[in-house]
Amino acid sequence: MPQTTFDIFRYQPDFADESYRQSYALDHEPELTILDAVLRLQNEQDGTLAVRYSCRSAICGSCACRVNGKTVLACMTQVEDVKKEFGSDTVQVDPIGNFAPIKDLVVDMDPFWEKFKSVKPFLVPDGPAPEKERIVSKEAMQKIYNESKCILCAACYSECNSFAADEEFVGPAAFVWGYRFAGDERDGQRKARAKLYSGQHGVWDCTRCMYCNERCPKGVDPRDAIEKLGGIAFNEGISWADSGARHAKAFLISVRTGGKLNETLLVPFTAPIQSQMDMPFALRMLRKGKAPSPIPHRVKKRSEVNKLMKNVKETI
Ligand code: SF4
Ligand code: SF4
Repeated sequence: MPQTTFDIFRYQPDFADESYRQSYALDHEPELTILDAVLRLQNEQDGTLAVRYSCRSAICGSCACRVNGKTVLACMTQVEDVKKEFGSDTVQVDPIGNFAPIKDLVVDMDPFWEKFKSVKPFLVPDGPAPEKERIVSKEAMQKIYNESKCILCAACYSECNSFAADEEFVGPAAFVWGYRFAGDERDGQRKARAKLYSGQHGVWDCTRCMYCNERCPKGVDPRDAIEKLGGIAFNEGISWADSGARHAKAFLISVRTGGKLNETLLVPFTAPIQSQMDMPFALRMLRKGKAPSPIPHRVKKRSEVNKLMKNVKETI
């Protein structure tokens, strides 16, 4: 029978101001999830150990936590798999990152729900209500299928670089729900939504670190949803106020016109005033052969570029 040591983050504000770590040894069957291990410790060794959970089936999203530094759903993570991956019989369990702990593994989720509410996560159809229902084709629903799988576990926020740096960043799951409705053909608020999501702390503040895609336990790919919202902002013509948006557009124009990224054009396009100030520096770089040529370059396989641009358009 395997034995595992669980090194668990403890925070008991009624008894101590500071957090601390506590180790528990447990003999168990080979098939045991992290959640079941914590519940056994709670039942058998320490009734003060606090954890949040509900369905135990990867549906409610309550038991997200960090195991050996990676955010996972505790109910769908096997202890023995973690031990094998890290080559150790000790497993560290911590609350999810970027949210304040309330008690042990339980964090304050209020900021998460505020962000979720801020994107208006509900359908706002245009025009009079139909007599019966609004029918949507399978193909149209397919476009938002991935986003519909989100279980609001906040694992993506736990790993999000932008949220770590800016607590007002709206964040991955909220944007997933933003796209869930902006991409729904029954919704009449596409432009208003794109405007709402493109403001300060919005889609353009994402650093594209991709951790949300990597850690989402349901394969929702939040970063992809953010990208699609950026595409909607372009199509609705509301992206120009933001330098992040201009930067992304410069990428797109560069690839569409020249078949590859022309880095020399990125700065003037993204920040015109700053680029004028940087001009002497840029000329020096060019003279020394350290800067790419500003003259657009054309690729031979133009048809490949056209195919790529078509794919970009179709995914938005
Ligand atoms: S996008 Fe994924 S990680 Fe983020 S809340 Fe939804 S299910 Fe969880
Ligand atoms: S890709 Fe963007 S939203 Fe996703 S974790 Fe990184 S910064 Fe956050």
